[in-house]
Amino acid sequence: MKTYKIACIPGDGIGKEVIPAGQTVLAALAQKLGSFKFEFTSFDWGGDYYRQHGVMMPADGLNDLRNKDALLFGSAGDPHIPDHITLWGLRLKICQGFDQYANVRPTRILPGIDAPLKRCRPEDLNWVIVRENSEGEYAGVGGRAHQGHPIEVATDVSILTRAGVERIMRFAFKLAQSRPRKFLTVVTKSNAQRHAMVMWDEIALQISKEFPDVKWDKELVDAMTARMVNKPASIDTVVATNLHADVLSDLAAALAGSLGIAPTGNIDPERRYPSMFEPIHGSAFDIMGKGLANPVGTFWSCVMLLEHLGEPAAAALLMRVIESVTADPSLHTGDLGGSARTEQVTAATCARIAAAA
Ligand code: ATP
Repeated sequence: MKTYKIACIPGDGIGKEVIPAGQTVLAALAQKLGSFKFEFTSFDWGGDYYRQHGVMMPADGLNDLRNKDALLFGSAGDPHIPDHITLWGLRLKICQGFDQYANVRPTRILPGIDAPLKRCRPEDLNWVIVRENSEGEYAGVGGRAHQGHPIEVATDVSILTRAGVERIMRFAFKLAQSRPRKFLTVVTKSNAQRHAMVMWDEIALQISKEFPDVKWDKELVDAMTARMVNKPASIDTVVATNLHADVLSDLAAALAGSLGIAPTGNIDPERRYPSMFEPIHGSAFDIMGKGLANPVGTFWSCVMLLEHLGEPAAAALLMRVIESVTADPSLHTGDLGGSARTEQVTAATCARIAAAA
């Protein structure tokens, strides 16, 4: 029997609640299907680790993850530690260390979810946003000088490389090609940013020639926000730079009904390193430790993890069960207007997996 080695990094806040819930659900799936099992290893990295050790994760921590088949991540964020430390010290260290250059965010309105767009039918909103995850506006290039003086200066320089843009465009076109509509929207801002974004557009055109069966169009990022709200059905697969996709995917999650549901995968498409799957929500300190967190974002992330491991039947079964869970209002957590608790949603998900035909 195949054994998948999974590293679990709950991180901070409700990550500590939703990741164990995800492990429980993955274990229930393995038990149901009987063709593979999981070996979980948990790492206590995050805000509490930082208070004890002065770092979010050990300097050689990536070595503990390197031989895993996949990583399941909760969230990093702590009200008492600056955000740039929690982000760069843990999540980005893993994403960049393992060159997980494609961040993939599927968005759908799941059954039973009351999404805010009045005229949008669930079938109108079925998107995957591909975020360039290794450079762009978050390349980490920049600095500060004259700190504390009136002439203080600070820069964050956005870096786009030809190799970086080619590989994310190729990934996005390939993903678009694998979906029924074979349609990609390339988000840009080449009207105002006349160097890197112009190269981005040129490379999109170049790579499109490798995928003659994929239709594609271009949209300025500002116009894209309006299109997502006004014409959701005109969108299928989307590719955008690190910052642009960061913003657009939060809008996408809100339009689909809740931050608590949306999943994401940080993928190394070449499989040189393990890829990392996580709910898109943050640490949500307002509800942490109360058992109120919606674990569905983590469960959907587990679907992505299973697809990545090459277990499509298990992924499809879990997605079917998730849809039956969201369709049941008695299993809605507070973010969806209900009063269900994390453990109830988890137990119901496991029971439905066990009972599935
Ligand atoms: P961070 O600073 O780590 O990004 P945050 O607390 O500022 O986190 P989020 O956690 O992304 O931001 O979400 C904002 C709010 O949405 C939370 O404070 C919480 O009330 C709600 N929320 C987010 N995720 C969930 C969830 N899984 N279940 C229930 N409510 C959630």
